[in-house]
Amino acid sequence: MQKLIAGVHKFHSDEFGRYKELFHRLSRDGQKPHTLFITCSDSRVLAELITQSKPGDLFVVKNAGNIVPPAHVTGDTNSTAAAIEFAVEALEVTDIVICGHSQCGAMQALVEGIPNADQVPHLARWIEVAAPVRETVRQRYSHITEREAQITATAEENVLFGLENLRSYPCVQSRLESNSLRLHAWFFKIATAELFAFDPNEQQFAPLVTNQ
Ligand SMILES: [Zn+2]
Repeated sequence: MQKLIAGVHKFHSDEFGRYKELFHRLSRDGQKPHTLFITCSDSRVLAELITQSKPGDLFVVKNAGNIVPPAHVTGDTNSTAAAIEFAVEALEVTDIVICGHSQCGAMQALVEGIPNADQVPHLARWIEVAAPVRETVRQRYSHITEREAQITATAEENVLFGLENLRSYPCVQSRLESNSLRLHAWFFKIATAELFAFDPNEQQFAPLVTNQ
């Protein structure tokens, strides 16, 4: 906690000056983020840092495993669904990014199970929302036997699963029909901080920035 409080002090003394005008303007005019960015709660995945975004740019949803449940699955207390509806309907974002990542603990749990599932019932049920991804990986990636590669394939398929599920939300459907919303599937490789984007034509993930 000391580290956090020291960070707050450092922000106000060293950094806040160059953001002062921006925060003032955002307070006065409200937020108008261009993108809903859905990624994992993992402490190594920092949406604003890796996209060099400023306050007001991104509406960020973080959850364990960056799972996007289908609109009908988890009932009325689904905070991810609530954030999607708010970003799409009220904020009118023009883009939605779902960003998975390497070495994802939630994806590992999806593949290998949770050893003490009864101690973490919410987590266990949440991970199971992505159970169809486990089946997809079993069917399509049976040739991959290496553990790390299997978890990476699961993380990539989970992002595509999320993209499909986004399409099940009526608010997303109507914005897609009016061509005012774009959906993106990204993958972040922690070791090199590289970002990959799914190319629907090639049906594979390719580096987002080719000269990095
Ligand atoms: Zn993760």
